[in-house]
Parts: sequence; C-alpha cells; structure tokens
Amino acid sequence: MDTKNKKCEFYMNEFLKLDKNERLPLSLTLHLLFCKECRTTVRKFTLAEQACKLSINKPVDDFDPSVDSIMKAINPNYEVNDIPPLSMKRWVVSGILMIIAMLFFGITGTDSDSQLSVSFYLVFAGIVTAYCAMFVGCNMDFFVKHINKFAQ
Ligand SMILES: [Zn+2]
Repeated sequence: MDTKNKKCEFYMNEFLKLDKNERLPLSLTLHLLFCKECRTTVRKFTLAEQACKLSINKPVDDFDPSVDSIMKAINPNYEVNDIPPLSMKRWVVSGILMIIAMLFFGITGTDSDSQLSVSFYLVFAGIVTAYCAMFVGCNMDFFVKHINKFAQ
C-alpha cells in the first residue's frame, strides 16, 4: 500500500511536470492504465482544465464587436450608457449662422468708416478662431481616435 502510494505520487508528479498537450510517457500511460486512482485524478485535472477554458472562451451571442457587447460579456452587470451619438448638426447650424452674419454685416457695413470695419473683421476673426478651437476641443475624442487610426 505504502509503495503503491509512493509510485502513484511519482507518476502524478511526472504527469504534472508535462507541458500542455505533451505526449504522455509510456511508463505513465501504463501506470494510468492499471491504476484507477491516478486515472481518476488525471480525469479530474482534465475536467478542471476544460472548466477553466469555458469561462474564458465564453461565446458572445451573435458576436458584436462593439465595446458595449464585449464589456457585457466580461461583466454581466455592465450598464450600457445611453450616450447620444456625436451630432455635428449644431456645429453646422452655428457655422452657417456665423457665415450669414458675416456676409450680412460685410454687405451692410461697407459704407461705414474703415476703422470700424477693421475692428469688425478682427472681432469676426476672433469668433472664427474661438469656434474652431471649441469645435476641436469638444470633439477631441474623435480627433484623437482619428489620429491614432492613421498612425497605425
Ligand atoms: Zn497510481
């Protein structure tokens, strides 16, 4: 009994030393064929390995590569934030309004003295610069991702 246990221990150590998917040595195979306890232990190891694999390779229903679905697969408690999609509408509308205002003041303000029109154009230049800076600042996420995409 004692010698059998030592033999089993030796063969189990041999088994645990093996790399994944490495072929079993002949002596170990023979021992597993005749020793029921070791065979059961090896089977339990195999089942445990499969159980570990299952939790990692958990399939995602109707695979959707979006971040939200991946996050949901990792953590079922993950809440999808209802962030409205990025809208360019208000930027386009305010840009068009700005151009209309510039044209309107440019046309109606031609008879006024040149010093006033210079300050008027300077103010508009400032507004356009602020508009562009705000546009880039508010959509920084998009610009950063776009730049990263080109850098790859
Ligand atoms: Zn054994």
